[in-house]
Amino acid sequence: MIAADDTGWLENLRSGKAAVWINDDAATTVGDQPISRASVQAAAQRLHRFAPLLATLFDDAGWDGKIASPLIAWPGRHGPLQSLLVKADHALPMTGSIKARGGVHDLLAFVERVALEEGLVRPGESYVALAEPAARETLSLYSATVASTGNLGYSVGLVARRLGLGAEIHMSSDAKAWKKERLRALDAKVVEHECDYTETVARARIAAGGSRRVHFVDDETSADLFTGYAAAAVELTEQLQAQGLRATPSKPLVVYLPCGVGGAPGGVLYGLKALLGEAVIGVFVEPIASACFLAAMGAGGGKPLPVYALGLDNRTLADGLAVPVASALVLEAVGEAIDACVAVSDEAMIAGVREAHSLAGLRLEPSAAAGLAAIEPLMEALTGRPALRARVEGGIHVVWTTGGSQLPQSEFDRLLVD
Ligand SMILES: *Cc1c(COP(=O)(O)O)cnc(C)c1O
Repeated sequence: MIAADDTGWLENLRSGKAAVWINDDAATTVGDQPISRASVQAAAQRLHRFAPLLATLFDDAGWDGKIASPLIAWPGRHGPLQSLLVKADHALPMTGSIKARGGVHDLLAFVERVALEEGLVRPGESYVALAEPAARETLSLYSATVASTGNLGYSVGLVARRLGLGAEIHMSSDAKAWKKERLRALDAKVVEHECDYTETVARARIAAGGSRRVHFVDDETSADLFTGYAAAAVELTEQLQAQGLRATPSKPLVVYLPCGVGGAPGGVLYGLKALLGEAVIGVFVEPIASACFLAAMGAGGGKPLPVYALGLDNRTLADGLAVPVASALVLEAVGEAIDACVAVSDEAMIAGVREAHSLAGLRLEPSAAAGLAAIEPLMEALTGRPALRARVEGGIHVVWTTGGSQLPQSEFDRLLVD
């Protein structure tokens, strides 16, 4: 057990209250190790190269193959904020969650290597050829394995199966039944584990073994996963520009990022700080019971520290964020650039789901409403830091809504009533 320090955040966590940790010396830039800025550009280009193929494979669904979501205005004020924008990844085409960015990019990077090695396409050629029967037959010899609490498995499984690859999804005990069922409907193999997410990743990594033909989408250590998320920063920056909004150090972009193992928020923040530097304030938001970045940054000296060591139990209804140990890769790549970690209660996330529905007409899962739940605790915690508070108050606030448009009606109805 770690002793409580004088900041109060640990005491709050242990008593089930919202907790805020602020990094007074957050880095305003990111380095080129272990992730490089050039690899983020490369990821954006790879997604661009694959879009025509994805459009062909998902022609029946009318998808254009682009992994992109709208930036929309929250109607009216939000709590202490005059205005708020929503980066609507809950509505990402086909997959309905932010996992499409990292997971699908990681899978496509593998498929690209295979396609070039097998001579299915040549560099510079259109990848639409990969939808032809002969290419699919070759791709069917390959498969993807991944561990998931639900959304990563679906994003990887859906696209892998459409490409003709096999898919094996290892689900932790947090995974919801309907998320398992929709995977089985894709003819993906679902392996259930009665353990937490960190242990499920370890087991899936072993199951994937050393076969050249089995690709393990590693949520904890993959650079291709990270850069896929980071490419979203390019998209958001263009959208802000198109809306006539320019983030500056005195009017910063304040972005609220729901956080599980850290790949999605870490990648996005890396990309944003690479592009906008000190004009960005990045807030990671976690469930109280699974506050693994708060644990790592606040008590672990920037290294992974299981939430269990703080007396937390990793039990939350935000299944997408139910992760007890932060990714070491993410901590190394952007840990120092995280401006704040906020832990929110399950009740506050549910309240966020309901207000997003009733006021803005959005369909979110609890994980995706974490950003909404973080605004008030953050502003309150900034009372003691007037300079930072003034900067944040004058900023451009963006909550990233990370999943939920595909929740079945019965699941969503259950979230709306007590
Ligand atoms: C996975 C997930 C996140 C967080 O992503 P990590 O890479 O695990 O930090 C946030 N919201 C939803 C809905 C997710 O599925």
